[in-house]
Amino acid sequence: MPDGTILLVDHVPCNRLQLSALLTEQGHTVLQAGDGAMALALLEQRLPDLVLLNTHLPGLDGFDLCRRLKADPRTRALPVILICTAGEALDKDRVFSVGASDYVSNPLHAQEVLARVSAHLSLRQKQRELDALRAAQGAPMQALNDDRDWRSISHDLRNSLALILSAADELRRTPLSDDQAQMIAIIERKASHVLAIISNALDSLAAEAAPRYAPTSLRALVQESLAGFDLLAAHKRLAFDVHLPEEDALVQVERRAVSRVIGNLVSNAIKYTTEGGVEVRVETAPETFSIIVRDSGLGIPAEALPRIFNKFYRAPQPKYLKEDGTGLGLAIVKAIVERHQGTIQVATAVGVGSIFRVTLPRQPKQSANHHGGGNLS
Ligand code: ATP
Ligand code: MG
Repeated sequence: MPDGTILLVDHVPCNRLQLSALLTEQGHTVLQAGDGAMALALLEQRLPDLVLLNTHLPGLDGFDLCRRLKADPRTRALPVILICTAGEALDKDRVFSVGASDYVSNPLHAQEVLARVSAHLSLRQKQRELDALRAAQGAPMQALNDDRDWRSISHDLRNSLALILSAADELRRTPLSDDQAQMIAIIERKASHVLAIISNALDSLAAEAAPRYAPTSLRALVQESLAGFDLLAAHKRLAFDVHLPEEDALVQVERRAVSRVIGNLVSNAIKYTTEGGVEVRVETAPETFSIIVRDSGLGIPAEALPRIFNKFYRAPQPKYLKEDGTGLGLAIVKAIVERHQGTIQVATAVGVGSIFRVTLPRQPKQSANHHGGGNLS
């Protein structure tokens, strides 16, 4: 039986004495009050685990006091056991209509009182454990309410799933028994399904969010997007040149999204280049601006070119696959460019290099502000 603190409210002193002796003997702590007012004053100071309440209190009677406890959010969860007369006990509707958890009737039977007290203390304890568990589970969920957290977790999940899929794909190329081939098929089907769930969830998130265009300094945006790439290039002994227009321009864009476009293109250029270098050039025109990323790398095979903007597509040759990647970077780039009413062009030759040119309006037409779309991942 769990020990608890019990508030005993009874106007008859000898009842209080007998009941409190019985309960204390079982290890409970007993607080006593002779009427409703005293009970309320005690409750202000200390919340018990259970209330044992005589219905025949002078002044505020037990039924009214119980109703008040159930109306107050601070005491609502306290289990209340009413001590009724035999006649009242027959009127169960009245007993339970005030929110009591249970009742015992006079003349009291010691074992019955203890059994009911014990049952309701256990229930209360379980309820508390459940509340604590819910609170513990709720806390991290709240911390993840921000779209950005979801996006970054989703990207990590997708990276891992893409890895699972490519590992499964590798295995498929080796000699397999029928059972093994079947298991790989299951892995692929399930991993693709989870990927689809994540992508759909992100798509709907992006579609719900209104685009947040803000006037932005083009120079600042490009410089901030390129931070760290010079080191990455240097690490591979590649040249890294940046050409910005003399005069800065104010452009109306989703800053984070355009930064991602630049980051993904430059990351590809460095990743798929083994010698020579990477050049980033920014050009402005009266209505538009362009970001051009040129590399002297592997180039893209003709058969792969039509598919590089597809989600999860990666050129299948080992020289591309030996680099880490999910095949999502250019799909995200394309979605963002379209959302900004822009265009993207590619010129490439295997063994010579690639040029990606993104052109965006300086001021997107108003209608684009009204529909979301595009998977910004
Ligand atoms: P992620 O960007 O998600 O890390 P990824 O780089 O493989 O992975 P994408 O950026 O979508 O994916 O590119 C798709 C494929 O296009 C690449 O796997 C690569 O085969 C090819 N590709 C993209 N950019 C270049 C480039 N600059 N030079 C050569 N090949 C490229
Ligand atoms: Mg990429």
